[in-house]
Amino acid sequence: MSKWVYTFGNGKAEGDANMRNLLGGKGANLAEMNKVGLPVPPGFTVTTEVCTYYYANNNTYPSDLKDQVKAAVAGVEAIMGKKFGDSSNPLLFSVRSGARISMPGMMDTVLNLGLNDESVKGLATVSGNERFAYDSYRRFIQMFSDVVLGADLDEYEGALEAMKNSKGYKSDTDLTTEDLKELVSQYKEIGKRLNKIVPQDPWEQLWLGIGAVFGSWNVARAITYRKLNNIPGDWGTACNVQTMVFGNAGDDSATGVCFSRDPATGENKYYGEYLVNAQGEDVVAGIRTPQPMSSKGEGNSLEELWPNLYKQLVDVRNALEAHYKDMQDMEFTIEHGKLWMLQCRNGKRTAAAAVRMAVEMYDEGLITKEEAIMRVGADQLDQLLHPMLDPKATKKVIANGLPASPGAAVGRAVFCAEDAEAWAAKGEKVILIRNETSPEDIGGMHASQGVITARGGMTSHAAVVARGMGTPCVSGSTDITIDYASKTMTTKSGSCIKEGDWVSLDGGKGQIIEGAVPTVKADTNSGNFGRFMGWVDEIRTMHVRANAETPADAKQAVEFGAEGIGLARTEHMFFDAKRISDMRTMILSDNEEGRRAALARLLPYQKEDFKQLYRTMDGFPVVIRLLDPPLHEFLPHTDAEMQELADKMGKTLAEVKNRSNSLHEMNPMLGHRGCRLAVTYPEICEMQTRAILEAAMECREEGVKVVPEIEVPLIGSKKELDIVKNIIDTTAQKIFAEKGKTIEYEVGTMIELPRAALMAEEIASSAQFFGFGTNDLTQTTLGMSRDDTGAILDCYRSKGIYVADPFASIDVEGVGKLVKRACEYGRQTNPELLLGVCGEHGGDPKSIEFFQQCGLDYVSCSPFRVPVARLAAAQAAVKYGKTQKEHKSSKAA
Ligand code: PEP
Ligand code: MG
Repeated sequence: MSKWVYTFGNGKAEGDANMRNLLGGKGANLAEMNKVGLPVPPGFTVTTEVCTYYYANNNTYPSDLKDQVKAAVAGVEAIMGKKFGDSSNPLLFSVRSGARISMPGMMDTVLNLGLNDESVKGLATVSGNERFAYDSYRRFIQMFSDVVLGADLDEYEGALEAMKNSKGYKSDTDLTTEDLKELVSQYKEIGKRLNKIVPQDPWEQLWLGIGAVFGSWNVARAITYRKLNNIPGDWGTACNVQTMVFGNAGDDSATGVCFSRDPATGENKYYGEYLVNAQGEDVVAGIRTPQPMSSKGEGNSLEELWPNLYKQLVDVRNALEAHYKDMQDMEFTIEHGKLWMLQCRNGKRTAAAAVRMAVEMYDEGLITKEEAIMRVGADQLDQLLHPMLDPKATKKVIANGLPASPGAAVGRAVFCAEDAEAWAAKGEKVILIRNETSPEDIGGMHASQGVITARGGMTSHAAVVARGMGTPCVSGSTDITIDYASKTMTTKSGSCIKEGDWVSLDGGKGQIIEGAVPTVKADTNSGNFGRFMGWVDEIRTMHVRANAETPADAKQAVEFGAEGIGLARTEHMFFDAKRISDMRTMILSDNEEGRRAALARLLPYQKEDFKQLYRTMDGFPVVIRLLDPPLHEFLPHTDAEMQELADKMGKTLAEVKNRSNSLHEMNPMLGHRGCRLAVTYPEICEMQTRAILEAAMECREEGVKVVPEIEVPLIGSKKELDIVKNIIDTTAQKIFAEKGKTIEYEVGTMIELPRAALMAEEIASSAQFFGFGTNDLTQTTLGMSRDDTGAILDCYRSKGIYVADPFASIDVEGVGKLVKRACEYGRQTNPELLLGVCGEHGGDPKSIEFFQQCGLDYVSCSPFRVPVARLAAAQAAVKYGKTQKEHKSSKAA
């Protein structure tokens, strides 16, 4: 015989906290609270296996379930000294869902089950409170009709409203006993009319209630929630049947919700709210304003009203924290002065609270450092890195959108990228508001404090780029309408923001706010956060570098704890107004001589860039990648610009156009780019090598130590790398001979083509390091680009196929296998090979977990992701242990 039902009550329980999969989170914790010795209304849990059985067997139950439920009810009756269905002293139940992982508000609950025309009278007599009894009955009929019978809730709400209006009442509490009796009969009439009749038989009510809970596992909103949160559909929910206790039994009764520490700030103080003479739903519905648990000296706290009960609640809090060693979210009811605990679970918290609690719980000896660092979600950390809107300021939220890139931004509204750049150049702070953004808007996005878009999801261009830049962004706000012609944004709430108006946004909450809200700066290096990150660095075994090429980004990266540059993309350095014309001349030259002349003019700029970067990184390793994109990306697009260039070079417009067309790549991620540029035009590689090495030599003289790591992009074979490496080494020898001294440097390669990953054992014999470029590697392995992905995934998901975004977290089965293979085989050939990743995945916690298992030496990500990556690396080290070899210390000696 299978066991389908687990009982709890009177300090005993058949289950415990470890049985979450079988009993659901709520059921497991109800059992555990009994074992901790807390006052829990007795009851029983019907397991998740019954739910799975129910769906596998055409909505039927196992044959032996009935007897097990009967026996469990009898057990509760014995404890409570009441009988289910009894007309004089009825035992009433609540019936609630409870999955393995909490799915707040997604599934069904029925309260006051067991009431009928007879037992309501019994309840009135034993409680001595007829109004309470009929109020409970009216609530029961309404809830059961809605949740179990699927009746239209508006019908019942309408009757309630009409009753209140006709009597001139403001609140439900104004209803008299007679009013409630009248409502009960009106509700029954509605039930008859709708053919949704609540059965009088309590057992029938109970079975229908259990069926409704299991049925609610597969309602549309629960399915959607599971999809969004990656919860498997075959887990099923448990069903908890528990004795009702009443917080609405009179003025000596109450109901409340509390947290063992403040979930917003993390402060170690009892935090919560309660309402006298109310049921749980009243606190949530917000009809009456709840009162505080602890004394604020206003005389309305539970501490002041009922000091004895408050003390009991403090004992409960202490017992639960000591037991679970984590902050607890608890629900309680006081019935005629007796305290009952209805629920406890690990409480949700803000990032700031999570850090403070982790640090303080370590100090209190409750948890270890390793446990402390697991308490803060790596992705959640983002919230702490950006300036925040002053929580004390008043805000008028005029629209909502997706929380695409966290942080607060305040500026004046502009409606195109050029305006953003122009206004910013004049020293204005701006917010860029667009329907969506595209690569041409990068400059404007960079110049803006924040970005708002009307369209696009969490992986839209605006969202991805803004996160990379650390620029706060609210994307896909369907509440707004943008009119480019009049330069206005109107909102559904009726506000209108014109060009130049101040607007604020909270990218962590997805809010758009009218006016300039004051901000407060994030402090990452002191206090609790500083200590916490100190532990993170102690525990992690992977290094964390940053992808950066400007001194400003590099400086930010170091402030956030980066231990080097994992990727400096040199192409970004050529777009500057002073350089682009030499760059274009170089590209359009007919011969090597012309190219060399233009490159010679670019050399000093490039050298200065690298010197600034080395100085900022002050001895940390710096990976500099040789020119990577196809050359046409640098060329002008308009006829006017082309004409200007032609004039400068003594060519005709047609000649410039022809050359430009011949360079054009159909697919900009493939073709004449990467190391192929160095193989076909060695002089470009020579110039860059010279800039990299001369800059390093000159920095050495200033006392800045650096060992440049020169990285060759898009390698597909050892032969290619050998050719480019030879150009680098020959150039180096030439420089050393000219200067009469030498400098150390390293040569390595990106691994960003499947071919490179498959040839890793050969390539590794010519490389000192591998940098996995998982952006290109994902595109080339999956045959799709970041830009197609969003639309494809949306379509797949709309068809019920859940697919993870391979550009958000590494595709372990494809790209991941290639990375793992390249690591293993590369190190077989070259045990000293240094391994790092510099694609976007280097800042993604799930991917970082995978890289830890591959034994990578470092991950590299955009500066604002560095703290996230540090924490994710530490968490991965706790989970998987040290997988890296000993490396040389990060800073050059
Ligand atoms: C990559 O391909 O992962 C990479 C880091 O290079 P880029 O993004 O510049 O192509
Ligand atoms: Mg790449």
